[in-house]
Amino acid sequence: MSDASPCLNCGACCSHFRVSFFWGECASAGGTVPDDLVVQINPSRVAMIGTDSKPTRCCSLVGDVGTGTRCTIYNQRSSVCREFEASWSQGQVNVDCDAARAAFGLPPLEQPVYDLDLPISA
Ligand code: SF4
Ligand code: SF4
Repeated sequence: MSDASPCLNCGACCSHFRVSFFWGECASAGGTVPDDLVVQINPSRVAMIGTDSKPTRCCSLVGDVGTGTRCTIYNQRSSVCREFEASWSQGQVNVDCDAARAAFGLPPLEQPVYDLDLPISA
C-alpha cells in the first residue's frame, strides 16, 4: 500500500498478495519491520503474517477492504510495501494494483484529469 489517498479506502493489495522480503528488513537485523509480524518462508526471506496463506490478509491491516483501511506499521513497513504504488500515483497504471482491486470487486483507479496530455493549441 502506498500513501496515496485512494489506498485509505482500499487495502486490497494488503489482502491479496504474499508480502515477502529479505529478512534483513526485520528489526532484529537492523531493519524496521517488527519480527513478531513475519514468518520465515525460506532461508533468506520472510513474509508478513497472514499473506502467506489463504484467505490472504496482512496482520498489520485494520479496517474493511474497499471501505476504510489503515496499515498499523506504516512507518515501519517493508520496502515491498513502500514501493507498491497505487495506479496513477506516479502517472502510470500499476496492473497489480488494478488486479488486487478487481479481486475485491473494486474498479481500477481512474487517471486523474490533471495527468492527461492535453493538446497544445497554436
Ligand atoms: S490495491 Fe492499489 S489503491 Fe488499493 S491499497 Fe493497494 S495500492 Fe492502494
Ligand atoms: S505491512 Fe502494511 S502496507 Fe504492508 S501489506 Fe501489511 S498492511 Fe499493507
